[in-house]
Amino acid sequence: MIIILKPGVSEAQALELVGKIEATGLKPLYMPGVERTVLGAIGDERVLQGLHLDSDPRVDEIKPILSKYKLVSRELNPVDSHVMLGKHAVGGDRFTVIAGPCGVESRDQLLGVAEMVKGQGVAALRGGAFKPRTSPYSFQGLGEEGLKLLKEANQLTGLPTVSEVVDAADAELMANYVDCLQIGARNMQNFRLLEAVGRLGLPVLLKRGMSATLEELLLAAEYIVNAGNNQVILCERGIRTFETATRNTLDLNAVAYLKRKTHLPVLVDPSHGTGVRELIAPLSYASAAVGADGIIVEAHLNPCEALSDGHQALDADQFAGLMAGLRPFVEAAGKQL
Ligand code: PEP
Ligand code: MN
Repeated sequence: MIIILKPGVSEAQALELVGKIEATGLKPLYMPGVERTVLGAIGDERVLQGLHLDSDPRVDEIKPILSKYKLVSRELNPVDSHVMLGKHAVGGDRFTVIAGPCGVESRDQLLGVAEMVKGQGVAALRGGAFKPRTSPYSFQGLGEEGLKLLKEANQLTGLPTVSEVVDAADAELMANYVDCLQIGARNMQNFRLLEAVGRLGLPVLLKRGMSATLEELLLAAEYIVNAGNNQVILCERGIRTFETATRNTLDLNAVAYLKRKTHLPVLVDPSHGTGVRELIAPLSYASAAVGADGIIVEAHLNPCEALSDGHQALDADQFAGLMAGLRPFVEAAGKQL
C-alpha cells in the first residue's frame, strides 16, 4: 500500500505514522519528498484497516500496489534509483559501461584488460573468479586467487570491480575483495543466495535467468531489496528461444518494459545476449537507444587465448570502436557516457 501524506505534514508526524504501521507487523517505508512525504506498508494489507488511515487528517491518498513485486516497483517509487559502483552512480541520466574478461585468468591478463578498458573510460571492471560452467571439465575460475587479482586491479586502476557469486557461502569472502556482486542467469532464482546478498548490502548486478519471465526477474530483485539491500541493478542478458544462430536472443523489449515497471537501473549484456563478437556493437547501440542505463561487455587483450567466452570477447581495437560508436546513441537517448 502507498500512503501519500498531505503537503506540510512534519517529519515527526510522518514518523509517528511509520511507527503505527510497524506496530501492525507490516514493513513500513518512509520516503520524504520535496513537496510531500510518501509512506509504504508492505505485507498483508488487511491489517492496515485497523489503523483507519483513510480518516487520518495527515493522509491525502491511499493506493494499493497492484504488482506482485512492491519495493522495486515504480508505483512505489517513481524516481529512478541510483546504485553506487565505487564513486560512480549507475542509473538516472548516466550510461554506464562495465567491461572486462569473462573470467580472471592470470595477473597479466586481468591487469592488461583493466588498463585497456580504463583507457576507454569505462566505469567498472568485470571478471569472474568463480565461473558457472556448463561442463565440469571447463575452466572453473581461479577462486579466491582471482578475487585477490581483482582487488589488485582495483587498487592499480581505481576501477570498481564486479564479479559473480555462485554460492551464498562465498558472499562474505567476496565482499572483502570486490565492489559489486553479480548473480548470474543460472542463479537468478537461487532464493537463499538472493537473501544472502540482500543481507550483505554490497551492490548487486542481477542477471535475468535464461528462461525467466520479467515478473520472475523483478520478484528475484524484490528478494534482495526485501532482505535490506536496495543497491540492485538488473541486467538483460538474452533468453533461450528457438533461434540457434545466436547464443541467446537479446530481449530488448525487456529493457523498455523494465524501465516502465521498476525504478532500478537496467543494464544490457550484449556479449552473452548474442554470443557473437560482431553483434556486440550494434546491440550495444540498440540498448542505448531503447533506454538502457548501460552495458556490461566482455573484453580480452587476446580473445583467441581466452579460457572462457573468447568468441564473444572484444579486443582492444574492437572495444575502442564500440566506445566511439556508442556516444551518439547515448546522447540521443538523453544520457551521458
Ligand atoms: C558471465 O557474465 O560471464 C556469465 C556467466 O553470465 P550469465 O550468467 O549471464 O550467463
Ligand atoms: Mn562469460
